Amino acid sequence: MENTTKKWLKITAIILAVLIVAMAATLGGMAAAHYVKVSDVESLEVEYNGEKLNVILMIGDGMGFSHVSAATAKYGDLFFNTQADYKSSVTTFSRDVFDPTDSAAAATALATGHKTDNGKVAMYGGKDLASTTELAISLGMATGVIATEGVDGATPAGFSAHAPSRNDLDEILADQLKSGIDLFFGSNVERYAPLKAQIEKSYTYVDAFSDIASADGKIFASFEEIPLEGGGEAKPTLASLAVAALDILSVDEDGFFLMIEESHIDKCSHNNDLFGAIEHVKAYDNAIKAVVEYAERIGNTIVIVTADHETGGLQYNGETADRLSDDMYTKGSHSKADVPFYVFGDIDFDLSRITDNTLIAKLCQAVISADK
Ligand SMILES: [Zn+2]
Repeated sequence: MENTTKKWLKITAIILAVLIVAMAATLGGMAAAHYVKVSDVESLEVEYNGEKLNVILMIGDGMGFSHVSAATAKYGDLFFNTQADYKSSVTTFSRDVFDPTDSAAAATALATGHKTDNGKVAMYGGKDLASTTELAISLGMATGVIATEGVDGATPAGFSAHAPSRNDLDEILADQLKSGIDLFFGSNVERYAPLKAQIEKSYTYVDAFSDIASADGKIFASFEEIPLEGGGEAKPTLASLAVAALDILSVDEDGFFLMIEESHIDKCSHNNDLFGAIEHVKAYDNAIKAVVEYAERIGNTIVIVTADHETGGLQYNGETADRLSDDMYTKGSHSKADVPFYVFGDIDFDLSRITDNTLIAKLCQAVISADK
């Protein structure tokens, strides 16, 4: 090769290198333009980039940090635990400060930003507490509630109803049917199938996953069972339910708020069934991955991953997969342990200022209020 050719190759290489560095800097500069800048959660001050903003709040019922660690020991790295843009924790106490919170008070905190007594659903002192879902509806946004239990469970109820007791299931259903929420996806078809006529006065009742796409208007879906994997038409996974919901909600030009709960980590942990619990942590992780990928595709969407409380006082101390055991539980009820608070999304706010679960509701409300 002649010297002049070598010299030109070298110069071309330098120019290319400079161009690549310049492009990287430009892309970096673009990424720095956060689509949400929260100056103050308490006063709901958020700067807005001109686009509609969506919030997806994902709750692993009963999932503490030890559940995450045990699931990692069994299944390897979890998507949400390794890929989150921000990782921290929140406190979960209710007004029953001497006892751990129950799911109703925790849902109330996460949905309304207010502490209440255990057992109460988005109410305190006889008064209704306004939820993020209701705020979203008042702003013209699309809304949805998904759970792997019946949607009258304490967590989904906290985002869609008000009741003095989580056991007031008829009152919860009546509230849900007049809520204006665009979609309810859950299980417990045994409860809802006999109520089909009542439900169909205001919602399209669906019990097969394959019927969701063709359902008109607001959807109230109840499936036979929500499995961990596979599924099929009548038994969709949480990940497939989440994606089906996003296909519906993301069309709304005013944005959307969606709550998604994996309900069974708690139920398995009450029975000290570790392998059942972490199988559901894995199913929750699969759903989170599908949701985050969807959120990145549509943009301007914050995904918050948390839990309502820890269940079972699970103690993980570095056990490998073959050493995991039900004996790692220390109780059969909820504990007071802090729970994960993870965020996916381009948000400019010191998220470490969020230390209690009530502030998660305030963050959700701050973000969805920003562009209205
Ligand atoms: Zn719970």
